[in-house]
Amino acid sequence: MAERTEPADWVRCAGCGALVYGKRWTRALHVCPDCGHHGRLTAPERLDQLLDPGTAESIGPVPALHDPLGFVDSRPYAERLERARADTGLPEAVLCAAGTVEGQPCVVAVMDFRFLGGSLGCAVGALITHAARTSLERRVPLVLVTASGGARMQEGVLSLMQMAKTAQAMAELDEAGVLTVSIVTDPTYGGVAASFATLADVILAEPGARMGFAGPRVIEQTTGGKLPEGFQTAEFLLAHGMVDDVVPRVGLRPVLGRLLGLRAVTGPLPPGDGAAILRAADDLVGRDPWRSVRLARHPERPTTLDYVRRLVDDFQELHGDRLAEDCPAIVAGTGRLAGTPVVLIGHHKGGPDLGERRRRNFGMAQPSGYRKAARLMRLAAKLGIPVVTLIDTPGANPGPEAETGGQAAAIAENLRLMARLPVPIVAVLIGEGGSGGALALAVADRVLVCANGTYSVISPEGCAAILWKDPQAAPAAAASLRLHPGDLLSLGVVDGIVPEPPAGAHQDHAAAADLLEAAVTAALHELIPWDPDRLRADRRARFHRYGTDTGTGAAAADWSQP
Ligand SMILES: [Zn+2]
Repeated sequence: MAERTEPADWVRCAGCGALVYGKRWTRALHVCPDCGHHGRLTAPERLDQLLDPGTAESIGPVPALHDPLGFVDSRPYAERLERARADTGLPEAVLCAAGTVEGQPCVVAVMDFRFLGGSLGCAVGALITHAARTSLERRVPLVLVTASGGARMQEGVLSLMQMAKTAQAMAELDEAGVLTVSIVTDPTYGGVAASFATLADVILAEPGARMGFAGPRVIEQTTGGKLPEGFQTAEFLLAHGMVDDVVPRVGLRPVLGRLLGLRAVTGPLPPGDGAAILRAADDLVGRDPWRSVRLARHPERPTTLDYVRRLVDDFQELHGDRLAEDCPAIVAGTGRLAGTPVVLIGHHKGGPDLGERRRRNFGMAQPSGYRKAARLMRLAAKLGIPVVTLIDTPGANPGPEAETGGQAAAIAENLRLMARLPVPIVAVLIGEGGSGGALALAVADRVLVCANGTYSVISPEGCAAILWKDPQAAPAAAASLRLHPGDLLSLGVVDGIVPEPPAGAHQDHAAAADLLEAAVTAALHELIPWDPDRLRADRRARFHRYGTDTGTGAAAADWSQP
């Protein structure tokens, strides 16, 4: 069990055993100042911590069966239920309220582990569903704070049905485009983990919180093996792509505030700066393509995260493919770009530090990276907010794990998903645009290339090795591949060029970021007023015409005919 109050005003930390003065414990939101252990909260305490003061409006109760089977073990279930009510002062294991977090309206449902282990019975299912319906009616996000041992045995198979019932309520919010966020607290298991806790658009977990379907004791008994240290903890789940982020309790309100504020903008918007995107490559004529290749790969060139830091307000990075892992070579999240809410996704090479570049796999994604990108694109589609992608990769991943993880299918899925996406997509080749790894983020309404970016079916070295049988022929291959921005524009593969500072983006990150912002804003402002049918029809027509015998340069010409 969690910490208990020592005589007078002292609380003993369940993590390290330290005694913490009660007032300090409360100020620290029941997080141990010595070891960081997150103590369990009651549902009323959690609501107090999360909601803006004075904004909580109680939701419920709702009619539900309380002892549908007349269940008796060593004691009648009805007695246990009465006891739980008396001990907690709560009618059930979940408490629901409407209110605001950092000024953003939402509905919150908070589970209380003290009440029969936070188990999911008929009344809990009814309350979660009621909270979801309230969220739907009011068109405000739903926040779920989970703490549960699983389904409530004493309500038999009807408790199992609550998983389906609450999953349906989540589906209704998906269909209506209403954001859902779950906050996983310790412990979240069984039927709750396998329904609403993991069906939310964004899953946050408190440090150390454990989540899984089967608990560790059951697994160890079944397999006879010992589980690794940290199994099923929030940090383990993050590394395995199951949660979007691990957020210390003190950070939950600001993170929620950022997420809950995501709202679709609709047009018309002021036209962007018409000069922000170059539609002629006069300045680039005669430039050596090999120079572009070298500049595109420059280790000090601004990375996706450099641009994010400079351009995106309230960026909230979201992690994981919800299947297996979190790919470090692709960064994805939500935020506001020049005031416009966006989902931003980009390859991240890691900057000048070699260790960091290795950790990021030099911007070469694993299949989980494309799947993370796809998940975030589906979120953008659900919320009706545009997608901005920043492309900077040598290419797809040549490693064996990428193949066993289904790299080809992961790339293909993204191409199809982007063809269907009902929201604007603006892609910018900020550095290297290498092969399928680049295209997996580039099936966009507007494709731009930075003045020293490239876009190619294969690296010049790879092409030289295969066709010239001589890797030294890479500069010749670069020229033949026509991967340079001027050529890309004349081929119609890009719609325009984002100017760079005179000596190149690596010489002046701030100026490069300003230029990128102006170009992306101009493209977004043009596209945001378009309805989904127009976006998709235009996007499909764009990619359909490549290679058909209608002349090249058509895509670039379309800019003058909005
Ligand atoms: Zn402690």
